[in-house]
Amino acid sequence: MRYSGLQVLAQGLMGNRGWKPVWRDPEPKPAYDIVIIGGGGHGLATAYYLAKEHGLGNIAVLEKGYLGGGNVGRNTTIVRANYNLPGNSEFYSHSLKLWEGLEADLNYNVMHSQRGVINLFHSDGQRDAYARRGNAMINQGDDAILLDREGCRRMLPYLDYDQTRFPIYGGLYHPRGGTARHDAVAWGYARAADQRGVDLIQQCEVTGIDIAGGKVTGVQTTRGAIRAAKVAIVVAGRSGQVAAMAGLRLPIESHILQAFVTEGLKPCIDHVVTYGMGHFYISQSDKGGLVFGGDLDFYASYAARGNLPMAEHVMEAGLTLMPMIGKARVLRSWGGIMDMTPDGSPIIDKTHVDGLYIDCGWCYGGFKAVPGSGFSFAHLIATDRHHDPAARFRLDRFRRGVLLDEEGTGSQHNLH
Ligand SMILES: Cc1cc2nc3c(=O)[nH]c(=O)nc-3n(C[C@H](O)[C@H](O)[C@H](O)COP(=O)(O)OP(=O)(O)OC[C@H]3O[C@@H](n4cnc5c(N)ncnc54)[C@H](O)[C@@H]3O)c2cc1C
Repeated sequence: MRYSGLQVLAQGLMGNRGWKPVWRDPEPKPAYDIVIIGGGGHGLATAYYLAKEHGLGNIAVLEKGYLGGGNVGRNTTIVRANYNLPGNSEFYSHSLKLWEGLEADLNYNVMHSQRGVINLFHSDGQRDAYARRGNAMINQGDDAILLDREGCRRMLPYLDYDQTRFPIYGGLYHPRGGTARHDAVAWGYARAADQRGVDLIQQCEVTGIDIAGGKVTGVQTTRGAIRAAKVAIVVAGRSGQVAAMAGLRLPIESHILQAFVTEGLKPCIDHVVTYGMGHFYISQSDKGGLVFGGDLDFYASYAARGNLPMAEHVMEAGLTLMPMIGKARVLRSWGGIMDMTPDGSPIIDKTHVDGLYIDCGWCYGGFKAVPGSGFSFAHLIATDRHHDPAARFRLDRFRRGVLLDEEGTGSQHNLH
C-alpha cells in the first residue's frame, strides 16, 4: 500500500478499516544469502539499501526484541552534518543528503524537520574553534553561519544572556540540521525493506556465529540455526558481546547515555540548541515535550538505565542556559547502551572472518548516521569494497594509530 494524502482521506471516510500491517511477520527460513544481526536503524537501513541499491533479495534481519525497540527509537533525534575532520565530514554530509530525500524514498513520513542546529560558544577560544568547524562544513559543501551574541539573541531570545559564568559569545548556526521522528525512521526503513522482500524476524536473538575454515557459515538463534553466506553485525551497544561470538575483541566500550522528555509545552524552542561549555542539547518535539540530553554516565555498563547524578548534571547545564525550563516537569527518561570507540568515530569494515562484516561504534552520533551508515555498509557487504564516504572507518586504524578524533580528547572512550 502506497501512502498519500488521498489514501489518508479515503481511509478516513472508510473508518480507517483498510490499513494493512506495515510489514510481514515471516518464520525464519533455514538459509539466506545475507543475515543482518540487529533490527535497529542501522540494520534496517542496511537491509533496505542492499535490496534497493544492489538488487539483492534473500536477506533476513534478526532482531532479539522488537523493531525500533533499541536506541533508534529512543534518542534525542538530532540530525546534522557539522563535523570537522576529513572522514567524518564527507560521511555525515552524504548521510544528510540521504535524509533530505528520505521521506520520498521510503514513502513514509519520518517527520524530518530542518529547523537548524545552533552550537553556542562561550569564549574567544571556542569562537575560533567553531569558526574553523564552520569553514570545514562550508568546504564540504554544507552550510554554516557564525552568529555573534546579538545574532543569537535574535534567534534564541529565551537564553540567559546575563549569566556571567558561561557568557554567551555567539553560536555556530547549521540551518540544514534539525531533528526527525526516531521510531518513524525505524518503521519507515522496516516497511520499505519488507516491501523489497527482506524478512524481518523479531524475537530472534542471535546466540552464536558459525564459522568453518575461516569463513562464516551462519548463526545460531533462539529460533534455530540459520545458514548464511554473509553475516553482518549491527547491534549498537551489544557490539562487543556479539562480536565475541566470532572471536573478535573490539575497541569498544559500552556506556549509558540518558535522554529526558518533559510534559508538552506550547512551542518555545524552535531550533536544536547545544551548550558549548557543558554537554547539553535540547529541542522541542512536535508533541511539545522538551527533549534533551547531556553526557554519558562515566563508567562502562550494560544496564539500560541511567543514574541520578548524571540526570542532575544535565538539568544543571540546561538551567544555566535557559532558566525558564526549570518550570517544566520531566515526564520520562531513557538510558540507552552506547557503543563508544576510543576516538569517537565509527567502524564500518570487514572482519578477519571471511563473509563477516561489522558496523558499530556510533557513540553519540548514530541516529543522524542511519541513512549514511546503511548505504555504506550495504555497499561494503554487496561489493566487498569500501564506499568512499565511509572509507576511513576501518577497524585497523586503532592498530595503526590513525585515529579520527573529532573531540581531540585522546583515546578515552567516555570522553567522546
Ligand atoms: C539517549 C540517547 C540519545 C541519543 N541521541 C542521539 C542524537 O540526538 N543524534 C544522533 O545522531 N544519535 C543519537 N544517539 C545515538 C543513536 O541513537 C545510536 O547511535 C543509534 O541508534 C545506534 O544504532 P541502531 O539504531 O542500529 O541501534 P539500536 O536501535 O540499539 O539497534 C540495535 C539492535 O540490535 C539488537 N540486538 C542486540 N543484540 C542482538 C542479538 N544478539 N541478536 C539479535 N538482535 C540483537 C537490539 O535489540 C537492537 O534493537 C543517542 C543515543 C541515546 C542512547
